[in-house]
Amino acid sequence: MPSVARPKPKAVAIDDKIRTVIFDLDGTIYDKRGLAARMVSRLWWCLPLLMAERFARRNAHYVQFASEEEFFDFFFVTMARGHWWGPRIAEKWYHLVYLPTMVRLIRRYHRIRPEARTLLRLCRKRGLQTAIYSDYGSVIEKLEALNIEYAQFDLLVSAPQLGALKPSEPSARRVLELLQADPKTTLFVGDRDDKDGATARAVGAEFLLIN
Ligand SMILES: [Mg+2]
Repeated sequence: MPSVARPKPKAVAIDDKIRTVIFDLDGTIYDKRGLAARMVSRLWWCLPLLMAERFARRNAHYVQFASEEEFFDFFFVTMARGHWWGPRIAEKWYHLVYLPTMVRLIRRYHRIRPEARTLLRLCRKRGLQTAIYSDYGSVIEKLEALNIEYAQFDLLVSAPQLGALKPSEPSARRVLELLQADPKTTLFVGDRDDKDGATARAVGAEFLLIN
């Protein structure tokens, strides 16, 4: 039987001057292809809420809120606008249905990307500081679902915790501050140039695109 050649993961490297590596999570640490379609097929019974979540997320882009509480107040009010449900139902659905479903699907169908595995190994070998900076919540749950030891990271943070989705210069500066990192020796790693790349550029840090 002919053997099927597996595509080799692309070589990834980190410049010697880099001391801190900040990873995006979804699409960067794991390949998220197929996840959106799976979410729709699992949550077809609440499709209007799923669409309202997309709508609220789009509306929250490029808005800086003073706190996580303000971010989610806006988010759930926007999700409820023009619908029969109120913000509190949107909030319950988001935390009790939407995020747990995403975590379950990641556990079942998704794996760590080879490039991410290589980069994480390289960071450990060189003793670099690492962080996860994600636009979504449930960071620990997703890392556990992917069998990734979350305690290896120096910081786990979601964009809403900092009051704004990516790209946000104040939030990126806050992440650097929490890590006591210099942007000149920091590398952002992500699958979206318009989000992760723009975040890196906003603070003058380097960016590595994984896609
Ligand atoms: Mg991503």
